[in-house]
Amino acid sequence: MARGRMLPRERKLMNATGVKTDLRRSRERMVREQIEARGVTRPEVLRAMRKTPRHLFVEEALIPQAYEDHPLPIGHGQTISQPYVVAWMTELLEVAPGHKVLEIGTGSGYQAAVLAELGAEVYTVERIKPLYEQARARLDALRYDRVQLKLDDGTLGWPEKAPFDRILVAAGGPKIPAPLVAQLGPAGRMVIPVGTSRRNQTLCLVRRDNGRVIVRDLGGVMFVDLVGTHGWQAS
Ligand code: SAH
Repeated sequence: MARGRMLPRERKLMNATGVKTDLRRSRERMVREQIEARGVTRPEVLRAMRKTPRHLFVEEALIPQAYEDHPLPIGHGQTISQPYVVAWMTELLEVAPGHKVLEIGTGSGYQAAVLAELGAEVYTVERIKPLYEQARARLDALRYDRVQLKLDDGTLGWPEKAPFDRILVAAGGPKIPAPLVAQLGPAGRMVIPVGTSRRNQTLCLVRRDNGRVIVRDLGGVMFVDLVGTHGWQAS
């Protein structure tokens, strides 16, 4: 079709398609340069990171930055984690289709969507009501119907839905909350940032193996505070 003959509506549609293609390219580049290049290798994790539309989990003004190599603010003093950190934690969890996965700290809902793309049944808990409501609306609109959300103190877990095959904690507290360990299934894995000072934690991989609990330190990370009964006190 000749460009000069295009109707305004068609031109608008062309532009929208162009923007979509750009965002897809940015996402591809993000996976290649930030995630694969840093050693994330599981194909299903890379596929989920390629598929999940991160730009739809940030406010409109931040869309141009959605695929950049850093966290972004989501309001209420909270952040959506850096893409690499999401991919790394997801890889460490070794999620298989059908796994029951508990996430603490829904935030934007992005990490929950990535877990759902892996075929998991996702249970995610957020303590800040507007974030919970926004994430619920977003995940509904995008038809992530295998994600269930709850507004609560996630340091208590989600006892009614336990045990979980996997647990991912997206905020950093002073210790590993005992209820989360108790709600981890027999061959369960949990990733959780733990640190004695705020915004400065070690990422821990917690495994259950024949009744034993094994904790491995994986290096320094920087998450927002895990606030609750088994976390930091609200300030
Ligand atoms: N996974 C999120 C990252 C959110 S940042 C994403 O993909 O966007 C961490 C979130 O943890 C914040 O929204 C914060 O409000 C929440 N949080 C902190 N302590 C919590 C608790 N005890 N229970 C539930 N959510 C908590």
